[in-house]
Amino acid sequence: MSSIVDYMEDLESRKALASVLEYLLECDMIEDDRARGISRQIIGEQTLDNLTEKQIYRYNQDVLHLVEVACDGHCAGSIDIHDLVNAYGRDMELGGTYCQHCMYDIENQH
Ligand SMILES: [Zn+2]
Repeated sequence: MSSIVDYMEDLESRKALASVLEYLLECDMIEDDRARGISRQIIGEQTLDNLTEKQIYRYNQDVLHLVEVACDGHCAGSIDIHDLVNAYGRDMELGGTYCQHCMYDIENQH
């Protein structure tokens, strides 16, 4: 149906998504109250299956762009959900949000 369902393919991805959402909540990166509530629900239930159409809409509006993040590097790809917390954690230091490959390249330039 929508791309959020892609994350639900396996348990690994569900856990990774929950970790990312926890990080986003901790860092106050989700501004909308409803979106925060939805994120907590996803973390608690470890699934998006129970979300209503309205909640999915809200999730797509306010959360999805924080979960599906384009890499700021040269790869023109997006950052793997498993690497995202690390990418966010280092974005101040590196001056952008990078995938593992581009992060490696940047570190080895110096
Ligand atoms: Zn990259």
